[in-house]
Amino acid sequence: YRVNQYRDTWIDVDVKAIASNIKAVKTLHHPDVNVMAVVKADGYGHGAVTVARMAIESGATWIGVALLEEAVELREAGIDAPILVLGRINPQDAPVAQHYRVSITVFQSEWLVEASSYLDPEPPLDVHLKCDTGMGRIGLTDEQSLLDITKMLKADKKFEMTGIYTHLATADEWGSDYLTEQLKAFQAYVQLAKETVGNIPHIHYSNSAASLRYPGNDYNMIRFGISMYGLVPAVETATDIPVSLKPAMSLHSRLTHVKKVQPETSISYGATYQASEEEWIGTVPIGYGDGWLRANATNGGEVLVEGERCPIVGRICMDQMMIRLPAEAPLGTKVTLIGKQGNKEISIEEVSERLSTITYEIPCTLNSRIPRIYQ
Ligand code: PLP
Repeated sequence: YRVNQYRDTWIDVDVKAIASNIKAVKTLHHPDVNVMAVVKADGYGHGAVTVARMAIESGATWIGVALLEEAVELREAGIDAPILVLGRINPQDAPVAQHYRVSITVFQSEWLVEASSYLDPEPPLDVHLKCDTGMGRIGLTDEQSLLDITKMLKADKKFEMTGIYTHLATADEWGSDYLTEQLKAFQAYVQLAKETVGNIPHIHYSNSAASLRYPGNDYNMIRFGISMYGLVPAVETATDIPVSLKPAMSLHSRLTHVKKVQPETSISYGATYQASEEEWIGTVPIGYGDGWLRANATNGGEVLVEGERCPIVGRICMDQMMIRLPAEAPLGTKVTLIGKQGNKEISIEEVSERLSTITYEIPCTLNSRIPRIYQ
């Protein structure tokens, strides 16, 4: 019997799609440009360890995470590639990064002083300097801070500065003025940092949107997240992406109950849906307790059954929901909530528009109650 997986709802992760998306983005850049595979938030819900392994096999040379915990998980799983923590870690946890040979993001001089007091003399902690050029999140925001920090990094042998980077706020939008301003500010910071510390091996600013839409020659690493999973950063600018992306995630379930209901029969909490004629109603074992949000029942939410689109009817419950079938279907019939059946497809882009949100939120919201199956 199957261990720890008895339910008929699962996510398929197509690891070949991840490989294909990495190869596709690499065609747009100089062969020497490193690809950092961003696998924070459990690989955007796809599974960080498996995605990281596949990414490295497919030509990525760095791994990006948000948290020190996420970096440690990858090291414990045997992943040996350089890992950068993109968020701020607490200074007292710097020895953990040192122990696991994890690179971290720095941008505060007080942080360096405090972290240095906790660090062992060796090996030096690898750091990338974060410049805030317009994202307004983390990073230094003026040249004096950059000079102070780079001088401290140069003087303190417990640190080794191997990278400098920034994050773009609008690379997925049509207008490029704001992006141009950010890049100008970043170039000035890079110039100044080089004057203090000399050569800096890793210079990076591109997320997926910039790495697909604005390939350039003033960096040697890209941080590739959402589009590694085959998703567009923004539906609005999807037409501007010059390579074909393959979605890695699909979401499926199976009918657990099928019944013919009479006209005016109500379905689910609040009795908000009423059959308008004799209808076939199917029950699907997924709900908001899995991160399949109630709003999926609104804005024309549909699923695929036997290659046909079927509407979700009534409110989505915690563990189950109902759909209207075109005809009787056998118990166990496959229901595809995200992905393809025959020539029909429900994409994550479609689900994100249904929920008035961005593609990123869909795979991240589907939680660990749904097993991930890798193919
Ligand atoms: N770099 C940083 C600092 C990030 O926070 C993220 C994710 O938001 C990424 C890179 C990857 O961005 P994307 O998923 O848009 O490729």
